[in-house]
Amino acid sequence: MKIDSKNFIIDGLNTKVLAKKYSTPLYCYSFSKIKENITKFTHSFKELNPIICFAVKANSNKTLLGEINKLGLGADVVSIGELTKAIKSGINPKKIVFSGVGKTADEISFAIKKRILLINAESKSEILQIEKIAKKQNKIVNIGIRLNPNTDANTIDQISTGKKENKFGVSEKIFLDLVKYSKNSKYLNLKCLSVHIGSQILELKPYEKMLKIVNKVIKKTNYNFEYIDLGGGMGINYENNYKQLNLKGYCKSIIKNLKNYKSKIIFEPGRFIIGNSGFLISKIIYIKEGHKKDFIILDAAMNDLMRPALYNAKHKIIPVNKNKKKSKKIYEFVGPICESTDKFSSLTKFQKLNEKDLIIICDVGAYGMSLSSNYNLRPKATEILIKNSKVKVISKRQSLKDLM
Ligand SMILES: *Cc1c(COP(=O)(O)O)cnc(C)c1O
Repeated sequence: MKIDSKNFIIDGLNTKVLAKKYSTPLYCYSFSKIKENITKFTHSFKELNPIICFAVKANSNKTLLGEINKLGLGADVVSIGELTKAIKSGINPKKIVFSGVGKTADEISFAIKKRILLINAESKSEILQIEKIAKKQNKIVNIGIRLNPNTDANTIDQISTGKKENKFGVSEKIFLDLVKYSKNSKYLNLKCLSVHIGSQILELKPYEKMLKIVNKVIKKTNYNFEYIDLGGGMGINYENNYKQLNLKGYCKSIIKNLKNYKSKIIFEPGRFIIGNSGFLISKIIYIKEGHKKDFIILDAAMNDLMRPALYNAKHKIIPVNKNKKKSKKIYEFVGPICESTDKFSSLTKFQKLNEKDLIIICDVGAYGMSLSSNYNLRPKATEILIKNSKVKVISKRQSLKDLM
């Protein structure tokens, strides 16, 4: 993907023309970037030849799921909605894993009927529920059990999932009990140990700690797991500090720690695959002068992009109309929603902006549109995919009628 900020061009298409044609706020995705990310991921882990299941919650657009399927990935889903959409987008159920702490009986029943790769169970109660439904359907179900390795992912608390105070997975002790229980069940076929310690991880250390624990626990079970599902969480570079997760180092560490097992590795990356492929183009409605800062009031808001309001996430903002003048005041980029957290960024020494100017909010491909809502009864934005310098509308802006 090329983003040429001098000419405001994404993959050969002029941002201004796109904004004019499709209106704003506008989500744009670059196919070439998605492909590049998948190639990089596959290449880094090629020694493992893993099964890669895209975490659908990062972005559940049907066309994008279809493209990701064609590029060879399966899916990690967390609801019957995501499971249905993944299948409808063409993903083979044999490449779908189902995660989540609260799968309902209906969801489990549907997943069993579709014969997906694995249901990754997260509690004793869920295992009993799966067994009961399997018995009723007279089917043997492939399951995984999610271990809570009690390791700190060194990411922000809101997206950490692998510590003992988190609701995810089961402790080592319960894991060992559940392995015994599942081994003796007529309806459960225990195939997998799964873990997922959190999101936006940029350091190897948390993964290394997690791998040591996984190794220790598998040894204790003395059980032959066909799969080890290491989850996702690989971080991307939102700010300009060039910090990057060492994927090849992670691969080496997996080989080192898990070399005694013949298990096939599964990954569930979401953000890494799609995060930096997405841009949100937004127009400045008003500029409102404040005491020490100017409020740049955008037509995009927290309902379109929730991450800054939800976990204080930072996204780069770049102006489409470049000039050499610098603003003397702080610019606070906000949306029109009636919440003080409806704020994207506070920036100093930004270039001078004017009303009606366009700006681009970067790296919004993951947890952008999928977390969007109709709050303040605002319509969901249009999404377009840029592929081979052609534009395809992959989701239309909701109309006023849709909102009624
Ligand atoms: C959210 C989630 C993922 C994906 O996380 P990323 O940080 O987007 O890679 C993978 N597996 C599970 C179980 C998850 O909950």
